[in-house]
Amino acid sequence: MAGKGLITDIKRYAIHDGPGIRTTVFFKGCPLNCLWCHNPECISPGKDLMYFEYKCIACGLCVKICPEGALKLTGKGIDIDYQLCTYCEKCSEVCPTGALEIKGRFYSVPDLLEEIEKDLLYYDSSEGGVTFSGGEPLFQPEFLREVLKGCREGKIHTVLDTAGCAPREVMASVMEYVDLFYYDLKFADPAEQERFTGSNSDLVLKNLEMLCQEGRGKDIVIRFAVIPGITDTEKNVKGLMEILSSMEGLGEIHLLLYHDVREKFRRLGREFLLTELEVPARVRMEYLQNKFSALDLKVKTNT
Ligand code: SF4
Ligand code: SF4
Repeated sequence: MAGKGLITDIKRYAIHDGPGIRTTVFFKGCPLNCLWCHNPECISPGKDLMYFEYKCIACGLCVKICPEGALKLTGKGIDIDYQLCTYCEKCSEVCPTGALEIKGRFYSVPDLLEEIEKDLLYYDSSEGGVTFSGGEPLFQPEFLREVLKGCREGKIHTVLDTAGCAPREVMASVMEYVDLFYYDLKFADPAEQERFTGSNSDLVLKNLEMLCQEGRGKDIVIRFAVIPGITDTEKNVKGLMEILSSMEGLGEIHLLLYHDVREKFRRLGREFLLTELEVPARVRMEYLQNKFSALDLKVKTNT
């Protein structure tokens, strides 16, 4: 029996995370550390504390209650010493405006299934379901597997949004319970994958190959985040196209527009290192869409 799973957030009525209306469950923890991560609050395997300064009314209640002395009220709002914080949640509980928010809550399998089942009516009316995202859901494999099994028993459609960076046995242990994979591909060159994400591309490609060999290619949507000057170079695009053309049965690829995430990093007390990064121009997305169209795949963009 799987223990509890750490979940960052549950988003309801999502319409961009798979077919129909969906509930998206964001798992905590990821073996990658992409410098442009769109959900940096999901990266660490433990809890996080986020501060939304525009909600803060400078009442000082959080400073008074913090047992570790981790908070200071300054002229610019609350200053958090993350080295001292133990994520006890006292400050977020006392904050009257929600300016401090703990990210990460433990759920048992039945509790999470109960949350997912609250939206059954929406799934039924829209042919939707639940999407497991993150972070990396495969980072909590036993918990994920039990939740997926519960969804299958309840006839709830599932999407697994994954970067595929997990041991083969982990992917093999969940794949029969997944209806659709959203599979992130970032780099063709292992050295670039290591440099920009700190992870091993061998696992990513081997798992993709295994899924295709098992006849699941038609159930995979490849997702490619267009990060200007980093993932969208001619060399990388060419390499990825070669990889994709060698995989059997794939039907679709989505090109994902990079969004500015530096605010999110700041609210977590993390430094955003890609300070020069710009959102890609529409013309660049169109160029890449045309380029990937040379493959026998349906190509979509989220511009
Ligand atoms: S979570 Fe606890 S330790 Fe961390 S800042 Fe808040 S009150 Fe202090
Ligand atoms: S309790 Fe909330 S509103 Fe009050 S100072 Fe702290 S963060 Fe700001």
